Amino acid sequence: MKILVVGTGYVGLVTGTCLAETGALVYCIDIDKKKIDNLNKGILPIYEPGLDEIVGRNADKERLFFTTDLGGNIDGAEAVFIAVGTPPGEDGSADLNHVIAVAREIGRTLTGYTVVVTKSTVPVGTARKVREAIQQELGKRGADIPFDVASNPEFLKEGNAVDDFMKPDRIVIGVESVRAEKVLERLYKPFLLNGHPLIFMDITSSEMTKYAANAMLATKISFINDIANLCEIVGADINHVRRGIGSDPRIGNKFIYPGIGYGGSCFPKDVKALIRTAGDFGYDLRLLDAVERVNNDQKHVVTKKIMAHFGGDVKGKKFAVWGLSFKPGTDDMREAPSLVLIGDLLGAGATVVAYDPVAMNEAKAHYLGDRIGYAGDMYEAAIGADALVLVTEWNEFRIPNYKVLDRLMNGKVLFDGRNIFEPAEARENGFAYYGIGRASS
Ligand code: NAD
Repeated sequence: MKILVVGTGYVGLVTGTCLAETGALVYCIDIDKKKIDNLNKGILPIYEPGLDEIVGRNADKERLFFTTDLGGNIDGAEAVFIAVGTPPGEDGSADLNHVIAVAREIGRTLTGYTVVVTKSTVPVGTARKVREAIQQELGKRGADIPFDVASNPEFLKEGNAVDDFMKPDRIVIGVESVRAEKVLERLYKPFLLNGHPLIFMDITSSEMTKYAANAMLATKISFINDIANLCEIVGADINHVRRGIGSDPRIGNKFIYPGIGYGGSCFPKDVKALIRTAGDFGYDLRLLDAVERVNNDQKHVVTKKIMAHFGGDVKGKKFAVWGLSFKPGTDDMREAPSLVLIGDLLGAGATVVAYDPVAMNEAKAHYLGDRIGYAGDMYEAAIGADALVLVTEWNEFRIPNYKVLDRLMNGKVLFDGRNIFEPAEARENGFAYYGIGRASS
């Protein structure tokens, strides 16, 4: 079975590689020549646990190819996945330029029946636009080649992407023809040996499902963050409250951990895009407006605690920051809360030295440059620091050595943006402790 995956980023690379792992012949295509050249040398553009090994294995077996040439490889492909970026446009709507550019290229080069599957997160109506773009290009060629469009939103989590793809909770596919359904059913069957469902539906519902899923998850995070802030005011501890509510199966204990706000390449942009879609159809999604507002404020919550602790003046103070990526397990810095916190601190005249197990190169190259210092390990970042701020809950930060911190740091204060430290332990070691929604020192 020959498959093309267009766009070789987080989603496209994982999709292509995992499909090759089941024996399909996969061509991963990208317009970024450097990315493709590197992949052909075995250098991956992203950090994702376990991915390099499967990429290497399938490339060696000549089932996985990396190329910039879509048209030259489309002949005989049973499905073409579009997995390019859909960044937010200025008005918050998803920018479909990359998706439509790929659709046009498919229309210009298609040789026989294929299913064109949108895997990028795209608003309702996009599959129709993809079909129109392909048809227009076929029309220009005077070609009458059958094809189907389908929607197959991706639910993988960065940091666990390979596992999520290989053993998905569910696969959602929007289709309009039995022929397309059969192609995709065959392709995905090997991933459903665990009995989890392959859910077929119409294309509009499938496009909507992805946004509804991310909007629900973002809502859970903003809900618990808002309750955590209230806990602090009334003297409750969010950790108790979280456990108290999470044991109710109607609520569940996942995704109700308070913190410094959600980031990443999906939740912020998808919440915005859904609000925009609703607006386009004349509906006011009030709940998601609030979710977004709570999250934007939450990214400054730790700054406010820092300012309160230092009497409103951090000029000349040095802060150690542990964790830069928007969550553990990835080097993705898109919309990372660390960027907001660090921006606040630098803006107030403080200096920052950060440590992250994998995201420092990405942070330095594309986001923070030389505006902050980068440490070789977590304790080096703490040397001479007036305070330590935990931003990303990488496992290695969970049990800090307080004796070492005591020796290295100038001040003895911890700001725990993810509630991973034990407040009592920090205090026993002489550190002031500030968490989220917990009684502070
Ligand atoms: P990404 O930015 O990591 O990768 C996109 C790739 O597409 C880039 O390598 C870019 O060079 C390439 N590209 C752009 N235009 C192209 C063209 N015309 N032809 C070929 N390649 C082209 O993006 P991503 O994080 O993989 O996200 C892709 C889509 O999947 C987005 O819609 C996103 O919302 C969605 N999604 C992402 C995740 C995630 O965790 N990252 C999860 C689910 C869904």
